[in-house]
Amino acid sequence: MPLADLGVTERLRERLSMMEIETALDLLQHYPRRYHDRTKQAEIAELREGDEATVFAEVRRISSRQTRNRRPLVEAVIYDGTSLLNVTFFNQPWRAKQLREGTEAAFFGKIDLYRGKRQMTNPVVDILGGKGENTATVVPVYPQSGKAEVFTWQIRDAVRRALEESGEFAEPLPSDLRDELKLRERTWAYHQVHEPESLEAARKAQRRLRFDEFLRMQVGLVARKRALEAEQSGIRHVVDGPLVKQFLDRLPFDLTADQRRALDEIRRDMASPAPMHRLLQGDVGSGKTVVALAAILCAVQGGYQGALMAPTEVLAEQHHGVVSRLLDGLTVVDHGTLTGERPVRAALLTNRTGAADRRALAAALAAGEVDVVVGTHALIYGELPFARLGVAVIDEQHRFGVEQRALLRGLGEDPDVLVMTATPIPRTAAMLVYGDLDKSELREMPPGRSPVITTVIGPNPLEREAAYERLRTEVAAGHQAYIVCPLVEGSARTEAKAATEELERLASQELTGLRLGLLHGQLKAADKERAMTAFREREIDVLVATTVIEVGVDVPNATVMIVEDADRFGLSQLHQLRGRVGRGGGEAWCFLFSDPTTPESRARMAAMAESTDGFLLAERDLEIRGAGEVFGERQAGLGDLKLGRIPRDVKYVEAARSAAERILDGDPDLSRHRQLAEEVEDLLGDAVEFLFKS
Ligand code: ADP
Ligand code: MG
Repeated sequence: MPLADLGVTERLRERLSMMEIETALDLLQHYPRRYHDRTKQAEIAELREGDEATVFAEVRRISSRQTRNRRPLVEAVIYDGTSLLNVTFFNQPWRAKQLREGTEAAFFGKIDLYRGKRQMTNPVVDILGGKGENTATVVPVYPQSGKAEVFTWQIRDAVRRALEESGEFAEPLPSDLRDELKLRERTWAYHQVHEPESLEAARKAQRRLRFDEFLRMQVGLVARKRALEAEQSGIRHVVDGPLVKQFLDRLPFDLTADQRRALDEIRRDMASPAPMHRLLQGDVGSGKTVVALAAILCAVQGGYQGALMAPTEVLAEQHHGVVSRLLDGLTVVDHGTLTGERPVRAALLTNRTGAADRRALAAALAAGEVDVVVGTHALIYGELPFARLGVAVIDEQHRFGVEQRALLRGLGEDPDVLVMTATPIPRTAAMLVYGDLDKSELREMPPGRSPVITTVIGPNPLEREAAYERLRTEVAAGHQAYIVCPLVEGSARTEAKAATEELERLASQELTGLRLGLLHGQLKAADKERAMTAFREREIDVLVATTVIEVGVDVPNATVMIVEDADRFGLSQLHQLRGRVGRGGGEAWCFLFSDPTTPESRARMAAMAESTDGFLLAERDLEIRGAGEVFGERQAGLGDLKLGRIPRDVKYVEAARSAAERILDGDPDLSRHRQLAEEVEDLLGDAVEFLFKS
């Protein structure tokens, strides 16, 4: 129902539209941010210095001026029927306009004394109504929008009319499920969330509506997962041929139990005619590459090809180096040759691959003469004429969705897909975000890794000197180090400049006499490669770099890492960076130079010092930043969470997951749950539309 039909004035409609509220349903899903319980309100007459309280009062007088040092100051006098109270706002000149005389509002703050009189300074203010009609005991307060000036009482009036007009709401939840989960009906919930009888009722209403949010997502994800599983368009790979065995036998180590389990899961998927959609999660250094390569070889031994896609050029090149080394000496059947076999071939494709080489690679791929292509995501999708792409491994791309799948499918049969990530996702969040993928985890680290000793270093020059001292000692002992330069706002060029200057500074001060190398995004690819090679070959002691080294760079001899301005990096990024050291088996150190100024950045530094467990840090990251930030754009649906929040609501996710499974067990195409089907389609659109009969 459009808002105009509710009698909302055009002026207000315009402002609501700025808050993306266009329909009655949008309005009803614009939930109160909090509630004031009037039975708990304080009377001004009773307040003493030091009390913290909410008072409901009317603005009697208000005026603005400047303080002696020219700060804007707004002073108001409020009255609640028992007494007057002075209220003072510093640096909030707009309050004079907001709180005109006669406005009723809730003021929350602490009482202090100024020249012997009680006053509240910079209280939290919620405007309640302009019409003196606040008789409810529990008063909802709606989120304010910065741009659009909409008062909470205006929303309340419109909501009241929307509720009156709506009547009964369609109920997507069967009553047995509702009873079992102790959830109230939706109609009741919509009324009570906006006009609660009590705080308790408001809470129950939120519970119900929050569950609905998670249920919609889970029904979509579970349905999609099941539809994918039911597809028969994939390849039945022959997974227990000799090639994989040969490969594993030749490794200089045994697989860890986790690696074996992951590989078994992958093989099972690959053998089945349903295309694999699996997420392989494992901390930096947990040995994902070996598992991925074994999966690729499962395809190769049956005459298929594999693709390994990396997020950056540096990583693609490095993967290619590792892959070539590991494949060295392996052969596949080839009846076109005298011996009846030929070596397994891997090729690299990056931006640097020249046009002629690219054409040659394309021809070789089309002829089935190349078995494995390693390249960047951007290059492989849709561009290459694989003869028989059997499996695609996608490293560090969290946004693998319908679209990418279609691109891969365009290449021939439906290839199996393995997505890898070194940023582990806590179980419940994964259920929410990757609910349509199967998951394998590498939690156990290969033997011989020691946790990196991590120290947070403040701006004190003495502490910093101790870090440089450790670095020099390690270099003297034949080891190497990284120094990661700060993120610089602005362009990659300013960042490169900062790194260059830092290198010069270090060369003339703390690190005089050491062999320093430079690596940043602005270098020509050949120079990047030269710097990496020189570092790998130990011609350089210390690599001064920007975050281009973040992912996957593997130099086991490096034992010290200094991260400058560490508090400006995200938690998972820091963990990735730290993963560059401690790969050689001996002791390793990470120094986080920082001067954290916000609670979040302090929390990040503390978490890094506390733990080296990527799974645990991922959970902390989620707590600190919240799901929306962490998962960013991947998730259609996350944005729909209005009441729900991850990780706080893990219980809801789990309950919704099992409810979704049960509903779909009994009614796979939701033909008997039309309301639910519609809501899921509204939420997830194209991604699920084909799943449910209309
Ligand atoms: P990831 O890709 O998960 O960060 P890698 O696959 O690069 O980890 O593995 C890191 C290092 O550990 C590599 O040098 C690899 O050869 C080695 N490695 C992998 N699996 C094992 C294992 N089971 N035992 C010992 N070393 C291993
Ligand atoms: Mg398969």
